Order: sequence, then structure tokens, then C-alpha cells
Amino acid sequence: MYDLELERVISKISEMDATRVLLQLPDGMRPFAVQLVSTINKATRASVFLSGDSCYGACDIDIIQARALNVDLIVHYGHTQYVGDLDVPVLYIHASIDIDVDRLVEATLPELEGYNRIGLATTVQHVHQVDEIKEKLAEKGVDGLIGGGTGVTPLDGQILGCSYRTVIAVKGDVDAYLYVGGGKFHPTGIVMSTGKPVIVANPYNGDVSMIIESDLMDIAKRRMAAISVSKEATVFGIIVSSKPGQSRLGKAEELAVKLTEAGKIPVILYMDEIRPEHVNNYTESEVLVNTACPRIAIDGISGIDRPMLTVNELEVVLGTRKWEDMWGDSYMESTV
Ligand code: SF4
Repeated sequence: MYDLELERVISKISEMDATRVLLQLPDGMRPFAVQLVSTINKATRASVFLSGDSCYGACDIDIIQARALNVDLIVHYGHTQYVGDLDVPVLYIHASIDIDVDRLVEATLPELEGYNRIGLATTVQHVHQVDEIKEKLAEKGVDGLIGGGTGVTPLDGQILGCSYRTVIAVKGDVDAYLYVGGGKFHPTGIVMSTGKPVIVANPYNGDVSMIIESDLMDIAKRRMAAISVSKEATVFGIIVSSKPGQSRLGKAEELAVKLTEAGKIPVILYMDEIRPEHVNNYTESEVLVNTACPRIAIDGISGIDRPMLTVNELEVVLGTRKWEDMWGDSYMESTV
């Protein structure tokens, strides 16, 4: 399914004369790991190591492993560049997946009825076909709009769990969005960032569904409850991740100062991955503030036993930001 772009990987390794390479694969690609390692090793003679840790996004480059293993190159699959250049070069491979555009458009048409203009959005895996989807829609009389790539979403129509700039860019010109991809994670972010309905076309199982703003009522209620409980709390644990694209120590220190000024007691917890077993024993913190991936607080992690706020939500608690201004463009803030 995935375009592994082995030729590009092999020629980059050869061109660099790299002898030690770290391969980072998202969970869905790990079943191809042995095939990748042996093909690259046979073609280049380089020692290829597999990262066994998380690979949630290009925010999650395993630079600490790369340094420890003394590699010349990191090959990172499944994402586009998110952080600036690091001291070990990184080759980003999109791991594109071709989909049947005709079938997808046919299946989607009934749900698009009644909307004049549709914004198109997808993840890096399908973004190479977004123009083709637009053309097929035009043939069927549907006007599609694609927001230009920018910043952490460099490709036209691309979205991330924490960045919806491409859909926000066309918000004023569309009535709804068509999201191409599986799951609710990304389309939920589109609705939160724009307030517009999202038609979700899953190219893997052919399902077409819709998410509208009222479907997010549960999330909104949970977030409001977390904010309101936090207003009464005294001790705040501010989480800082060591992942290169999620690390916001400066922001955490700034928040610690503001919390102290507000009469609260802040402590900074520094860690790689936020897991219940890592944070729950810090029992004195009544509230956790997550400066890492904003989706961890919004979507929740099962097992965390107290409220967790995003940075923006803490600003609501401190009175420097209004909740009603936040729901929309700025709820999902990328960490860089
Ligand atoms: S910060 Fe979170 S949502 Fe953004 S790319 Fe990383 S894992 Fe994905």
C-alpha cells in the first residue's frame, strides 16, 4: 500500500556515504520494518537501526537515539518536516498511499448535496491526489477549494492533528469540508478549528460519514469542566516533553511565572512521553498543564486521574484569554 520510496532512501544514503542509519516508522508501518532494513542494508551496506520508541508525528524525531547510536542519517517515514534542521540530518518520506479517486468521489456525492463550495483536506498520505479529487468533483459539478500549504503543513490541503492552517485559509469561501482519510481524529480538529461541517470519506473501507459542530458537545463540555475545576486548584504540574517538535520549556517557564503571580504553585515535569504511570504518582498536582501535543489534553489519555489543560486553556483559567474567543481558529495550536 505505502510508497516506501526505497530508491530515494538508498540514493540519499549512498550520496552521503552514510554508514549508520536510524529508521523511524509510525506504528502502521512497523510490519514492513524487516523488509526495509534488509533492502537498505543489502543496497548500501549501511548498518540500519530501528527506533522502537513512539513516532507520533514529525514532532517526534528521535534525536536522542540518533546521537546515542552515532548515526549519519535519520530516515523518518510517514510525515513531513515539522521541526527545523537538527544536528543529525533527517530524510522525510511521506509514505503516500494511492486511493481510488473515482470510487471515493462517487461514494461522497450524496453527502455533498446542498453545499456550494467544499474545502478539501487530507493527511500527507493522500495529499498527492488532492488535485485529482478536486478535478473529479468539478466533473460532477462540485466546486472544491484547496488551502495552500504553509508552515508545519507544507503541502496544499495537508492537515495535522495540531495544525489546520490550510482549512482555516479557505474557511470564508466554503460551506463545508471534505476530509479524505480514516478515523475521527483529523476531522474533529477541522470542525473545532472552523465550526463547519465535515464530510469524512474513508478511502480504506469506503465509508462516508459527517461530523458537525454539535457532535463535539461532549468535548466542549469536558474542556469547560476541566477549566472550571482548575480555577479552584492551587498546585499545577506543567508538563514539558523532550520530543524536539513538542518541547516548549520557555513557554512552561513563562506559565510558571504567571501561575506564581496568580498565587498558585507551579512545578515543571519534564518527560519524553506522557503516560498515566509517569504522572499519576505526582499526587500533589491537582491539575496538569500540557505544553506538548495539544491533542493529548483535548482528546484525553485514559488513566490520567485529574484534569489536564492545554496552554490556551490555562490562559483562560488565568483570565488572559476568553473561552469564547478560543473555540475556533486557535483551539488547536501547533507546538512550533
Ligand atoms: S504535536 Fe501532536 S498532533 Fe501535532 S504532529 Fe505531533 S503528535 Fe501530531
